[in-house]
Amino acid sequence: MSDLVDRLVQGLPEDAVVVDPDVTAAYARDMAGFCAAGAPAVLVFPRDVEQVRHVLRTATALRVPVVPQGARTGLSGGANAVDGCIVLSLVKMDQILEIDPVDRLAVVEPGVVNAVLSRAAGEYGLAYPPDPSSWESCTIGGNIATGAGGLCCVKYGVTGEYVLGLDVVLADGRLLRTGRRTAKGVAGYDLTRLLVGSEGTLGVVVQATLALRPEPAPPLVLAAEFAGTDAACAAVCEVMARGFTPSLMELMDATTVRAVNEMAAMGLPASTQALLLVAFDGPAQEAELAAVAEICRTAGATEVVPAEDRAESDLLLQARRLALPALDRLGTTMIDDVAVPRSRLAQMLRGVAEIAERGGLTIGVVSHAGDGNTHPVVVFDATDPQETARAEQSFEEIMALGLELGGTVTGEHGIGLLKRDWLARELGPVGLAVQRQIKSVFDPLGIMNPGKTL
Ligand SMILES: Cc1cc2nc3c(=O)[nH]c(=O)nc-3n(C[C@H](O)[C@H](O)[C@H](O)COP(=O)(O)OP(=O)(O)OC[C@H]3O[C@@H](n4cnc5c(N)ncnc54)[C@H](O)[C@@H]3O)c2cc1C
Repeated sequence: MSDLVDRLVQGLPEDAVVVDPDVTAAYARDMAGFCAAGAPAVLVFPRDVEQVRHVLRTATALRVPVVPQGARTGLSGGANAVDGCIVLSLVKMDQILEIDPVDRLAVVEPGVVNAVLSRAAGEYGLAYPPDPSSWESCTIGGNIATGAGGLCCVKYGVTGEYVLGLDVVLADGRLLRTGRRTAKGVAGYDLTRLLVGSEGTLGVVVQATLALRPEPAPPLVLAAEFAGTDAACAAVCEVMARGFTPSLMELMDATTVRAVNEMAAMGLPASTQALLLVAFDGPAQEAELAAVAEICRTAGATEVVPAEDRAESDLLLQARRLALPALDRLGTTMIDDVAVPRSRLAQMLRGVAEIAERGGLTIGVVSHAGDGNTHPVVVFDATDPQETARAEQSFEEIMALGLELGGTVTGEHGIGLLKRDWLARELGPVGLAVQRQIKSVFDPLGIMNPGKTL
């Protein structure tokens, strides 16, 4: 037994320490393509905070890198192993410790699956709004570490807006408590917010206090078909300019609609060039939906179909949730995540279409249109080196276009390994230097998820 494993088992149950290379290899990467993954030395499944502290103390003593992991649904390589690391999987710390309807909060362990928390909150008439499409499998720890978004962000915002406080094990094993349980609170620097989106590079989230909201009415959804993305984006801008706050506003291009139809035969309109889904979940939802239907028609929608009932609304939302897996079936994919100000969404989509044409590639685009957050999915044949090179080039051009339009290279998936070079471009030298200084305060030995983000 190596010294590392020998020390780990002193503070962990034996079955929580795995060295079988077939198993450790299975935990070596997340769902991002084209990101290198190393060979872990060991995989551990702690069940409580003390066990996590033991792992980090051991790692510091032996100067071994640590890669925290949730469900590995990440799309940036952030959870990928590095050679000789401890892969620290938090999936077995999966208890909801408390739901408090008066303070409207939940206290959870990091391995709780997003949808499990959402359903548990629902039993109290409450909701945990952040809803990534992967919500049936991704963990709250992973959501916090990536700053995950989702379908309802246009109204409810992203994960960061719901994180009140965190318990975080630092690289040396100390337990840092940040934040609060109160509705308000401004004491000290906002370390909670700093840790959200830190992608496992500053510490390990072992407990989170999360704000809950009253459960909204089930959403009513409208589907509007357009002959092109320009008209659909004009409708999006008009909806926002007129002061509406939909609970969802999602745009699928023709490639995406076709892919979803082929995968699940959900009856989306096959001939459409751009399909806009808009939902409302407030008390005036029917009137709001009618007003938005009119806006869509004025913007040039060829067909506007409000869902008849909850079941039809659910079907449309399900179809949207299938967009990424459906595009994934078309070939090897690189999923991008560029967000621009929503007023520039039309330019972004036009630019992506031009990039696809120049590269002779299929790029399906599904967008959280209300947030200006696009997911251009570059589809290519990975056995063809030239096409692969063109795909990589297009992926880069999409990020460059996003920055040119005043956007960011990642709206919600994070930097991980995939976009490291692009973080430097987005932040500039001063921003990058300050971020590196912050990293060294939390992790002076550089053992926390090394090589990711910075
Ligand atoms: C089909 C599909 C749809 C998706 N849709 C969306 C979407 O709509 N919106 C969106 O934002 N994302 C989406 N994603 C991406 C992904 O689901 C999110 O990034 C999610 O937050 C990752 O959670 P996870 O538990 O899988 O974390 P992992 O992938 O395991 O880890 C992600 C990052 O978090 C770190 N980490 C994990 N747990 C901890 C912890 N406890 N402490 C410290 N660091 C930790 C890891 O080191 C890594 O850097 C989608 C992915 C797929 C496959």
